[in-house]
Amino acid sequence: MILVLNTGSSSVKYRLFSHDLGTVAKGLVERIGEADGDAPDHESALRSIMSDLDLDGLDAVGHRVVHGGPDFSAATRLDDEVVAAIERLVPLAPLHNPPALAGIAVARKLLPGVPQVAVFDTAFHATIPPEGVTWAIDAELASRWQIRRYGFHGTSHAYVSRQTAALLSKRPDQVNVITLHLGNGASACAVEAGRSVATSMGMSPQGGLVMGTRSGDLDPTVVFHLHRVAGMPLDEIERSLTRGAGLLGLTGDNDVRTILRRRADGDEQATLAFDVYARRIREYVGAYAAVLGRVDAVTFTGGVGENSPAVRAAAVAGLTALGLTLDETRNAAGDPIISTDASPTAICVVPTDEEREIATQTWTALG
Ligand code: ADP
Repeated sequence: MILVLNTGSSSVKYRLFSHDLGTVAKGLVERIGEADGDAPDHESALRSIMSDLDLDGLDAVGHRVVHGGPDFSAATRLDDEVVAAIERLVPLAPLHNPPALAGIAVARKLLPGVPQVAVFDTAFHATIPPEGVTWAIDAELASRWQIRRYGFHGTSHAYVSRQTAALLSKRPDQVNVITLHLGNGASACAVEAGRSVATSMGMSPQGGLVMGTRSGDLDPTVVFHLHRVAGMPLDEIERSLTRGAGLLGLTGDNDVRTILRRRADGDEQATLAFDVYARRIREYVGAYAAVLGRVDAVTFTGGVGENSPAVRAAAVAGLTALGLTLDETRNAAGDPIISTDASPTAICVVPTDEEREIATQTWTALG
């Protein structure tokens, strides 16, 4: 059995898998540390999860870790040295890695005999070639401060691109896929023969597509201008661009369902936000078609990608010249393949399953 733990700043999501990857149990501990929360801290959250589960015969624990920095290109078995290396990455991911480290520390303490593995969101993107991760800034500065593209959502892009190959009755190394993970966070990935060769998020999950509350791609001058001309302190700018931007910044709402309802009622803000959101996705599909040369499939996943025919239609609208022709009926039904039979490139909908992928990678890492 494998226990998968996804520890966030105020929540722990868990899922217990049998050895054949059936789900034995799953759940969520929320609002950790809040007055009316489920647990006062991460340690008691994990203690309560473990006391609820029958962990007799547990073989391994897989931890989701957002940032693996430049050093981790695969899921890695945890020991003191690996934990120390993840701790050194905290400056690269100050919001995301500390809660994962808290979860790791508690799980190692409570399950001392059980092998534990860190599965990184960045690892799948370790195959992107240097020209795809290097930004054209002072090379010495970039190297000294580890400034480059890392990419995120890697477990999802890995899982979904493999599932897409299976859907097309091909092996992963036989297909080129553009995967579009559209959830609260959102990112695009170009997968060439099973390997990530381009992705839209950058040094943090802030770059690329328009998201629920994050801006996605932005000219860095915006930051200088807000600081120098608008007089905003850096922390406030960061908060605005990460928690008050994206769909929320444009409309006051970050739930795509609400935006779609408002748009249907003729709301101009919601209509513009939808158009900005969809156009950014189309721009990335076009860019990644250019990176890949040949595209066998474009695959939608994540809460929005799996559930919104309107977003999917807008995201590939006008791309018939790239070989993408949507079948309206299949799209409305949310079929696994939503392109027409004659469409040279398949358009697919594949539910993501990051926990299952973490369990798979945990198992692989332990040989
Ligand atoms: P996370 O990125 O936090 O894992 P999800 O992948 O579950 O989140 O995606 C959450 C988003 O999915 C929400 O913003 C919600 O707007 C969107 N969503 C869920 N169902 C639908 C739907 N039927 N139509 C459009 N958007 C949806």
